[in-house]
Amino acid sequence: MSSQPHIVLPWIVRRTRLPLLSWRCLDCPSKSATTGKGRFRANANGKLLDVWLLVRCVSCDRTSKLPVHERATVRSIDPALLDGYHANDPKLVAATLLDPLFLRRHGLALDWQGAWELDPLPVGLDEAWPWQVAVNFEDPVPVRPDRLIAQGLGCSRSEVPRRIKSDISLRRPRTLGFTFIAMARGSAG
Ligand SMILES: [Zn+2]
Repeated sequence: MSSQPHIVLPWIVRRTRLPLLSWRCLDCPSKSATTGKGRFRANANGKLLDVWLLVRCVSCDRTSKLPVHERATVRSIDPALLDGYHANDPKLVAATLLDPLFLRRHGLALDWQGAWELDPLPVGLDEAWPWQVAVNFEDPVPVRPDRLIAQGLGCSRSEVPRRIKSDISLRRPRTLGFTFIAMARGSAG
């Protein structure tokens, strides 16, 4: 057990902005849309209410409306939620966009590239290999572990399997925390 790591480093994955949406624009060849700062539109018709999340083509700015509530009875929606829609509450925009049911209903996928960061502690532990690293997700950002580990260790993705020990699939994106053991460069067989 002499190689048992005695240092546990926390790494945190967090969102830096909202992800883009994979989106086929009707006016231009772009395949990407953004919620921008985040805006809802609500329209009451008698006792029925429609709420949409507005998204904008990143290339030509064409705006589209994604239904959040369709022909819902006003009373069926929590008044606090309704206020959030009217105020374009950023937390509600994020919660709506990141809701898996909402995405599935509209057949949408999120593009997280450039929308997250890894927050490792400053590392000056070269003497203390191997490390145990505990990765935690502050936001449900689906990241391939090999990509994340390569970024954290400052190595190439192909080097990752030789540098670490872990039970998880390195290539399958995940949003659940995991741990791995990292060895010094060149020390692994
Ligand atoms: Zn467009």
